[in-house]
Amino acid sequence: MSRVTFYGVRGSIPVTGAEFNQFGGDTACICLEGPERTVILDAGTGIRALGKRLIQDETLGISRPCFLAFSHFHWDHIQGLPFFLPAYDSRRSFTISAFGREDSSRSLRDIFATQMQNEFFPVSLGDMGANIQFFQTEEPRFEVGRGSVIAVKHNHPGGAYSYRINDRNGKSVVYCTDIEHSESIDPQIVELARNADLLIHEGQYTPEELPRFKGWGHSSWEQAVRVAELAEVKQLVITHHDPDHDDSFLSEVEAQCQARFPACCLARQGMVLEI
Ligand SMILES: [Zn+2]
Ligand SMILES: [Zn+2]
Repeated sequence: MSRVTFYGVRGSIPVTGAEFNQFGGDTACICLEGPERTVILDAGTGIRALGKRLIQDETLGISRPCFLAFSHFHWDHIQGLPFFLPAYDSRRSFTISAFGREDSSRSLRDIFATQMQNEFFPVSLGDMGANIQFFQTEEPRFEVGRGSVIAVKHNHPGGAYSYRINDRNGKSVVYCTDIEHSESIDPQIVELARNADLLIHEGQYTPEELPRFKGWGHSSWEQAVRVAELAEVKQLVITHHDPDHDDSFLSEVEAQCQARFPACCLARQGMVLEI
């Protein structure tokens, strides 16, 4: 059994205002709490609230292994990390992990050290306090305890990765964000998501909007539904909502998604699912 909590469901930039209260305004961050470890998917501004919870909740103790896994490093997926309080606790350890090494001149550590260099932030990465390890691999699959992680590179400006996380009980969560399918759905993603217990797929645009944003690296909700149908997943959650889409707009989108694929909802900040 894993618990999946959505701490940030917005794409591109955080938004505030009464018209965003229902779905939430923080950028990408999802927490998977499995029986043995905590996995945090992306560190958008939503990770700030997650950090507070990790400090307050003793069941997520200091010694529990914690991985931060990144789909890619665009701002909306990293901008919360400097505000992640557990990273300032010298008793804690984290592993920051990512797939691929397309640009060999930049190590994983460099990406985060640059984000926190003194022109941009008053505390450097090395001065945060926690023991932060970096793990980057080109292997598309690796074992973690009795579970496994599989990664697939997909189409997005600068590259991005989808993940499938299989836990020791055979439950699977697939995270696929910041993906631009071509005219047809990427068959690699369908295979990755095959029969998953939960598919979390972005759906930043409506089918009508999508042609205007060709090359921006995103999907429509209709494409997310199509992946869920083709892969025959048990449940679909659509995330990475456009900052211009308010609650009433997203509620209408959700109704259209559910008409196509009933086991589907749009992600809401604070939403918790048990898998
Ligand atoms: Zn994004
Ligand atoms: Zn992106």
